[in-house]
Amino acid sequence: MRTNTKTADVDCAYRFENMSDLANTTCPACGEATLQTVKRDYIAPIGDGQKLRIPNIEMEVCDKCGEEILSLEAAREVDSAIAEYTDRLNPDELTAVRENFGVDKTEMSEVLGLGGKTYLRWEQGNQYPSRSMGYYLRVLREFPEAFAWLRSRGWRGRNRVATAERTPLVEMQHRFPALASDPSRLNALATTRCNFALILFAKK
Ligand SMILES: [Zn+2]
Repeated sequence: MRTNTKTADVDCAYRFENMSDLANTTCPACGEATLQTVKRDYIAPIGDGQKLRIPNIEMEVCDKCGEEILSLEAAREVDSAIAEYTDRLNPDELTAVRENFGVDKTEMSEVLGLGGKTYLRWEQGNQYPSRSMGYYLRVLREFPEAFAWLRSRGWRGRNRVATAERTPLVEMQHRFPALASDPSRLNALATTRCNFALILFAKK
């Protein structure tokens, strides 16, 4: 069973659920040799041409083409070693941070000012937060009131409305937030579809 979850940072070509399916089978990469189970250092690229040596990782290796195949368990071990080395929050930690705030992945993304699916990708381990975002998340984890304050601002939501749904009514609500408390005036102004500021002053 080939799960083939290649990531940008952990360059192991394949990850298997069950390594016993693989022992002594033909190499899936070259088809010319039999895979051998070995335990050795795994060299993981960690960006900027740097590499991290992670000791004692069990893997299936092809001695013909050099293909290395890691079990899911070994791949997680590699992921968490990289996370630790690069000060990265791992997916489990990211989930714990979010659940502690009681928000779903989409809202978490919005509060942090990210694209809607970004936090989801981090929790899935398909992408990683930058080092600086990692520090920022640690601050929020340490000071939940800072997250609550950020959430109450609703910046990301407001920006999205302003750029994606710029109808005359929405536009006006953003320009004159005080009017939102008086819907009758809002409606009257919205139907005119002309210079809102002028009408606002005329009404006063
Ligand atoms: Zn091979």
